[in-house]
Amino acid sequence: MSDPTDAPRQLPLVLAEPRGRAKPPRHLADLDEAGRKTLLEEMGLPGFRAKQLSTHYFARLVDDPAQMTDLPSTQRDELVAALLPELMTPLRTMEADKGATRKTLWRLFDGALVESVLMRYPGRATVCVSSQAGCGMACPFCATGQGGLQRNMSTAEIVEQVVAAQRALTRDEVAGGPGRVSNVVFMGMGEPLANYKAVIGAVRRLTDPAPAGLGMSARGVTVSTVGLVPRIRQLTEEGVPVTLALSLHAPDDELRNELVPINTRFSVAETVDAAWGYAERTKRRVSIEYAMMRGINDQGWRADLLADVLLARGDWGWVHVNLIPLNPTPGSKWTASDPRDEREFVRRLEAKGIPTTVRDTRGREIDGACGQLAATES
Ligand code: SAH
Repeated sequence: MSDPTDAPRQLPLVLAEPRGRAKPPRHLADLDEAGRKTLLEEMGLPGFRAKQLSTHYFARLVDDPAQMTDLPSTQRDELVAALLPELMTPLRTMEADKGATRKTLWRLFDGALVESVLMRYPGRATVCVSSQAGCGMACPFCATGQGGLQRNMSTAEIVEQVVAAQRALTRDEVAGGPGRVSNVVFMGMGEPLANYKAVIGAVRRLTDPAPAGLGMSARGVTVSTVGLVPRIRQLTEEGVPVTLALSLHAPDDELRNELVPINTRFSVAETVDAAWGYAERTKRRVSIEYAMMRGINDQGWRADLLADVLLARGDWGWVHVNLIPLNPTPGSKWTASDPRDEREFVRRLEAKGIPTTVRDTRGREIDGACGQLAATES
C-alpha cells in the first residue's frame, strides 16, 4: 500500500492505484547514468551505448532514431526500444499571447490525458508540468481536483514534457526565436509530493549535467504543493534546493478545510511551520500561493491574518506571497476577486512587510490553468 499521507481516507475522490495495472514504458530518463548502463548490460548490449542514447535525448534532443547514426544499424532498434520508447503523443496544441504561451494536451500510453504549458517571457522560458494524471486532493476550485486521481506519472513521463518543450524551443517552433527552458514549475495536473519518488527523480534528471540530464539549475525548478507536511519535511532533507511553493489559499483552518481539504489532516499552523523549516534549511524563499476568490478569501482582515501567520515564523524574508487571480472553472460557484479588493489585499500584506506579487494570467482563452483542457477532452 502507498504511504497514507499520499491518500487521505476521508476524501471521497481519492482512488487507490489498482494492483497489476500496466506500468508506463521504461525509459532512460527513469534511470540515472549507472542504471542505464546496467540495464543495457543485463540485456546483453554494450553499456557504453547508454551515454550515446542519453546524448541524443538530453543534449541533441533527437526524437527520430534514423538520426542516431552513431549507433550500429543492427542494434539501433533494440537500443531505442530498450531506453527510448515513445512515452506520449501530443493530441492537441493550443496557442495564446501571440504564440508566447503554448499548451499541449498529451495522451499517455494507457490513454490517460495530461497537459503541459510553455510560457515565454523576455529572457526566460517556463514549462508548467503535470506530475499525475488527475489529482486526489479534491480542491473544489480546481478543475483537476474534480475528476479524482487516475494514476501517478513516471519520472520519464514528467521529464518528457520538459524535453518536448526544449525541442520546440531549440527548433525555433515557438514565437520569439530559438531559446531554452530556464524554469520548470510543477503546477500542472497533480499533487507532486503525492508522487514523491518520481518527482524527485524528475528533478534530478532536469538538474543532472548534460548528457546525463538536462543540466538546469535547481533554483529554476519550483515544486508546488497543497502541503503534505511529512513530504515537505522529506524534501527539506533531500538536498535538492528547488523552490517550494505552498498553496495556502486561506490563513485560517475553517476556510482552508473547505478550499484545500487536506487541511483537515495538516492544519495551517503545521503546514506553515513545515514550509518555514524548508526555507530555514535551504535558505530558499518559499512562495505562498493564494488564489483570490471573490468574497471567499479576499477580505482585508484575511490579508492581515495571513501576514501575521507568516510573520509569526520569522521576519527575515523567508517567504513571499503570490496572489493568483482565480481562473473560474466551469460550473464553479467561485469567481475572481474585484481588482479593488485585490489591490487592498496586496497593500495590507506589503504594509506588514510581506513581499507580494500578483501572478500574470497567461493563456486564459486556451483554458491555461489547471487541468481545464484535459477536463474538457475527457
Ligand atoms: N497540487 C499542487 C499543484 C497544483 S496547480 C498544488 O496544489 O500546489 C498550481 C496552483 O494553481 C495551486 O496553487 C492551485 O491551488 C492553483 N489553482 C488550481 N486551480 C486554480 C484556479 N481555477 N484558479 C487559480 N488557481 C488555481
